[in-house]
Amino acid sequence: MIIQDNISLRHYNTFGIEAKARHYTEVYSTSELQEVLQQWKGGAPFILGGGSNILLTGDLGRLVVRNCIKGREIVRKENGKAWVAAGGGENWHDFVLWCLENELGGIENLSLIPGTVGAAPIQNIGAYGVELRDVFHSLEAVELSSGMEHAFGREACRFGYRESIFKGPLKGQYCITRVMVELTTGPHHLNTSYGAIRETLENWNIKEPTIQDVSRAVTAIRSSKLPDPAVLGNSGSFFKNPEIPLIQFEALQARFPNIIHYPAGEGLIKVPAGWLIEQCGWKGQRIGDAGCYEKQALVLVNYGTASGPEVLELAQQIVDSVEQKFGIRLAPEVNVV
Ligand SMILES: Cc1cc2nc3c(=O)[nH]c(=O)nc-3n(C[C@H](O)[C@H](O)[C@H](O)COP(=O)(O)OP(=O)(O)OC[C@H]3O[C@@H](n4cnc5c(N)ncnc54)[C@H](O)[C@@H]3O)c2cc1C
Repeated sequence: MIIQDNISLRHYNTFGIEAKARHYTEVYSTSELQEVLQQWKGGAPFILGGGSNILLTGDLGRLVVRNCIKGREIVRKENGKAWVAAGGGENWHDFVLWCLENELGGIENLSLIPGTVGAAPIQNIGAYGVELRDVFHSLEAVELSSGMEHAFGREACRFGYRESIFKGPLKGQYCITRVMVELTTGPHHLNTSYGAIRETLENWNIKEPTIQDVSRAVTAIRSSKLPDPAVLGNSGSFFKNPEIPLIQFEALQARFPNIIHYPAGEGLIKVPAGWLIEQCGWKGQRIGDAGCYEKQALVLVNYGTASGPEVLELAQQIVDSVEQKFGIRLAPEVNVV
């Protein structure tokens, strides 16, 4: 076990924010993780994946453990289905591409989401009409306080919209070491309900799309809309899309007839946070090096040397002005650390 001191995390978070880890190590297997937990006496460590869903607001006094546990495996194939597992430290998008190479369908809409496989269940990653929970089978995780391994099925994970038990009651208590998903070997069920996917496929003159075509379409759409963290620091959507009761929505619609909205089930209406932020005039604005992305107001960006507190201050001002105008309080999707 090698523990390093005072390591800069700038290149370990996609916001590109400068912050130091007082202590830092990497683990490449479950047993290595358990060894670290057994020997480390300085309190619960912070588990780091690809750093694509965090905002660091200062140096971390805790031990930072980067999950580098690799491995991909087709565990079983039966009746048109395949159970596929991957190590928590695998890159999510590489895993998607590997599944596509193996003609396995179900996660093509989740192409190009940054980060690791192990973090995917934390906020039940989702995009273009598909969420991880739609294909999720189970996961293995190590409890940080005891080093014990536990398995969690779908119910136990309590998935919700950008939520799970690991972002709620069990936050910071486990390290997810392995995730298993249930995919299709064919025929595949394609999810092309999103207009942008349909339009892209039509523009490419693809009449009978494959899972690979859908992945390529999603990749093209995402690349045109979202800033590449390698070029412009960001953590994707900074806020969740609020879901409000129908009665509150109707009152808002009377005042703002153009309000964009989608049914969210159980008498709830989802309003895109990006639209709300844009209506408050934030799109393309910046305070110092912290900014609201010019092509998508939901994404906050670091133009160079923004600090965590500066990004947080911008986020707070956005939250306040949306609340003032619409009476809706935005909640962050990003984990503020
Ligand atoms: C450009 C861009 C686009 C994005 N688009 C989407 C999108 O479309 N949909 C979407 O859902 N998300 C999106 N995201 C957010 C992000 O990619 C996902 O949330 C991703 O799953 C984060 O993975 P990570 O490994 O980087 O996690 P990190 O940022 O490293 O960690 C996030 C949180 O999870 C915890 N954590 C990480 N790994 C583990 C583990 N193995 N066990 C326990 N806890 C862990 C951390 O402690 C932290 O609290 C986007 C981000 C960016 C930068």
